Amino acid sequence: MQLARRIRQIPPSATLALNTKANQLKAQGVDVVNFGVGEPDFDTPANIREAAIKAIKDGFTRYTPVGGIPELKEAIIRHCQENYGLAYQPGEVLVSCGGKHSLYNLFQVIFDAGDEVIIPAPFWVSYPPMVMLADATPVVVPTRQENGFKLTAQELRERITPKTKALILNSPSNPTGMVYSRQELEALGEVVLEKGLYVVSDDIYDRILFDGARFCNIAMLSPELKARTFVLNGVSKTYAMTGWRIGYMAGPQDGVAAATKLQSQSTSNPTSIAQKAAVEALNGPQDTVAAMVKEFAWRRDDILRRSLEIPGVTCPKPGGAFYLFPNFSAYYSKLKPAAGQSHSGALAEYLLNEASLAAVPGAEFGEDNCLRFSYATSRERIATGLDRIKEALGKLG
Ligand SMILES: *Cc1c(COP(=O)(O)O)cnc(C)c1O
Repeated sequence: MQLARRIRQIPPSATLALNTKANQLKAQGVDVVNFGVGEPDFDTPANIREAAIKAIKDGFTRYTPVGGIPELKEAIIRHCQENYGLAYQPGEVLVSCGGKHSLYNLFQVIFDAGDEVIIPAPFWVSYPPMVMLADATPVVVPTRQENGFKLTAQELRERITPKTKALILNSPSNPTGMVYSRQELEALGEVVLEKGLYVVSDDIYDRILFDGARFCNIAMLSPELKARTFVLNGVSKTYAMTGWRIGYMAGPQDGVAAATKLQSQSTSNPTSIAQKAAVEALNGPQDTVAAMVKEFAWRRDDILRRSLEIPGVTCPKPGGAFYLFPNFSAYYSKLKPAAGQSHSGALAEYLLNEASLAAVPGAEFGEDNCLRFSYATSRERIATGLDRIKEALGKLG
């Protein structure tokens, strides 16, 4: 059948595709080390699971208000106030079926045909297709490894046109793990205000920060910037709740109201039971978060050290999330990509076949020099994986 142009123009999620291939090999009995996974390898904490079980037992299984139960909105508002000093009203918060859904809803209601949306590369794979699904134009702006893969005010300024509507920021970043400093955000914020842009601040990794760093987003810098920023977040990464599908946006009331209207005509409320679990996640004990972050920090140090031991590999030190984005371009002259294949795609394929190691090609994130390693896997698998990569690359001569 002839499918709609809307869907023909976008690719399927590359990270999910790689996972499928790795799982197929695993099913055939191959011992695959999977660095492709984009979710914590921890279980959802017991108190959160219990809250969901209680919700079922209490019969909390009907429709809820479209934008989320008041209790959950209050928990989100308290989190934003206590941790970031950002004050929101319930009408400025919308709970959706995962952070991804929040982004999708937002893009559908704030972007129009002809709008340009600035996406710094490396970027999270879903941003450009989601912008295209809203009929807007993604403007991918490459950043430099020397700058920690972070967009500078100068780079932003150069790409702004009269059609530029918004800038997408994601810190800590998927795929690089890099974190914007307050000063860097201030420099970007000046340009944002001067040019009247909106900012979409994807803060999904806000709590997975290392080295005692404190979280900062652009909305925290001034009331003027807060009025131009939509903050996106959720419980998936912080509380190992990827399957529960609870995310949210907070920001200017008219945009949030429009997104709520869209949601009322599409999914309606996110799952009632998962909302109760998210309330417990945000309001309950936070010690499991600290323990998870401590473990991720250990692995970050380990996987970075092991990666930098491989001849020719360079990599900035991530400050958060659970990804490493090492540069393997030193090996590209030794591998010939197939027609239409990227260098990083050829390397990822080589590693999967030669070393049974799954990593996502950087090209999928708009940076072909690198591969993305997720270290949401055990210490033992990290060590095994890096040994295998070293050996496989050694064979290339
Ligand atoms: C995981 C992720 C999300 C959203 O995840 P959900 O499970 O949909 O809440 C959003 N942005 C980035 C960068 C992510 O890595």
